[in-house]
Amino acid sequence: MTPIYYIQFEDKNIDEGNSISTLAGIKNNFSGKKEAIVFSNHANEVKNKYAQSGIKTTIYQNNHYELIDFADVLSKLKELFVNKKEYLVVLDNDNLGDSFGSRLAALLGTVFVADAQKFSEDNQVIVDKNIGETQAFRRIPLEKKAIITIACNGVLKKENSEINIIDWKIKNKENSTYIPEENSTNDLAYAKIIVAGGKGLGSAESFKPLKKLSGKLNASVGASKAVTDQGWVNSKRMIGISNLTVSPDVYYAFGISGAVQHTIGMNKSKCIVAVNTDKSAPIFKLADYGIVGDANLVIEQLNNLL
Ligand SMILES: Cc1cc2nc3c(=O)[nH]c(=O)nc-3n(C[C@H](O)[C@H](O)[C@H](O)COP(=O)(O)OP(=O)(O)OC[C@H]3O[C@@H](n4cnc5c(N)ncnc54)[C@H](O)[C@@H]3O)c2cc1C
Repeated sequence: MTPIYYIQFEDKNIDEGNSISTLAGIKNNFSGKKEAIVFSNHANEVKNKYAQSGIKTTIYQNNHYELIDFADVLSKLKELFVNKKEYLVVLDNDNLGDSFGSRLAALLGTVFVADAQKFSEDNQVIVDKNIGETQAFRRIPLEKKAIITIACNGVLKKENSEINIIDWKIKNKENSTYIPEENSTNDLAYAKIIVAGGKGLGSAESFKPLKKLSGKLNASVGASKAVTDQGWVNSKRMIGISNLTVSPDVYYAFGISGAVQHTIGMNKSKCIVAVNTDKSAPIFKLADYGIVGDANLVIEQLNNLL
């Protein structure tokens, strides 16, 4: 049975309820091995909080830990999971969970499912996920290695837990280039114009001019999975089979190759404009208008013109 690891981050404003009720939800759904992994700068308070969850808890404590230390926490998480043959990593479905989940999936080369609604086990772990903003569900059977974010609650039956506290050293103090989410995804689901960026834009920095363009066009910013996996953009902005389906009047695809997993989420757009340096990129088969060229340059020109 796939072992489940619930990852949590606890700073000095320890939230009394949330993660414990998530643990209860996990406990009530799965009979197999479960463990909580908590990153904290307040190990003793965290120890008290998790003491009666009945789930083995390992606290990685570092007094200098801050949530901004993405690179450090991620490299620690990679170290913990890279050699495991089977795991389901569960994170809360908030901005932090999505950011860490998508980045960890990129580092480990595993599947990432954001915003799952339910999960269950039937020989393998199955997650249910809303289709767009609707009440319909898509059922996704997971591989032996997967990372998900989920809101999963339960009522805790108190039992003593094994708690281990491990000191770890932060090596890297560089801040991440991650651009935090500002709006909800509702703007994307209902947007009339979407400017979407792909890996061809080259960096998180390139999303700043794209964001500027979105302001000028009154558009929403979307992204491909290759981008959200890198942590350049929040995974809630991912368009395609793993997240949102959109159908705006105009969809600009900047530096997006046009993989079917992406296009399935945007091929109902009324007008598609693609910019790609590769004239044989599959996105051009769908596009109403195409520009073969550097997307960053086109975005810059549009920002200058508008
Ligand atoms: C189970 C599964 C689910 C998936 N779900 C999704 C999903 O929901 N959404 C999704 O998007 N993907 C999804 N994928 C991933 C998908 O298969 C592609 O890998 C992904 O869409 C590629 O993103 P991309 O086009 O940004 O990157 P790439 O494929 O790397 O393409 C980058 C493109 O940019 C072009 N380029 C390079 N430099 C420039 C430049 N300067 N200017 C313009 N163009 C440039 C290149 O020619 C290339 O065409 C999924 C994959 C799997 C296996």
